[in-house]
Amino acid sequence: MATTAIYPGSFDPVTHGHVDIIQRSLKLFDRVVVAVTQNLSKRPFLPLEERIFLLERVTEGMGPVTVVSFTGLLVDFARSVPAHIVIRGLRAVSDFELELQMALTNRAIDAELETAFLMPSGRFVFLSSGLVREIWQLGGPFEKFVPEVVADHLRRKPRGVENDGLPGWAGGGWTGGDS
Ligand code: ADP
Repeated sequence: MATTAIYPGSFDPVTHGHVDIIQRSLKLFDRVVVAVTQNLSKRPFLPLEERIFLLERVTEGMGPVTVVSFTGLLVDFARSVPAHIVIRGLRAVSDFELELQMALTNRAIDAELETAFLMPSGRFVFLSSGLVREIWQLGGPFEKFVPEVVADHLRRKPRGVENDGLPGWAGGGWTGGDS
């Protein structure tokens, strides 16, 4: 039976790190469903439609990858696919605690749902969408961290204070930001 894995995330925007994880997933599973979260708790940097559009472009020709959005519980979405495997990327120990909590919570809700953690190439261990957003906002060379189609999209996007979903550098220091 074909094995489908779900790769959930905000992908705001999709980076080389996400692509690395999708490619690794395709070696392990027959089909990957990239599930883009709406992120209701805060305003995203890119609207959902743009994040989906970019993911579709980036995964074109990669193999059996589908890009969809979802709201609600991941376990409910997994059942609707149907899929029993959730992929998450692990970059550093700092990712681990929250990821463990999420994986065990999902499993507590649905004992059939397994989470598989994949590590990216060392080149991408430091990379996050939040970092790309900050470099972009500050006019830095964000292009090297994202696929060309994403770089193109961001180049054409006006920079401005209206992007208040952004974490920020304050006095040159890292003030947080999710991922
Ligand atoms: P979320 O808000 O769900 O964390 P992200 O788009 O930031 O959404 O991340 C989605 C998944 O991709 C997470 O499992 C995250 O750890 C993983 N990820 C993000 N960037 C990288 C990277 N550079 N290398 C490996 N995994 C990554």
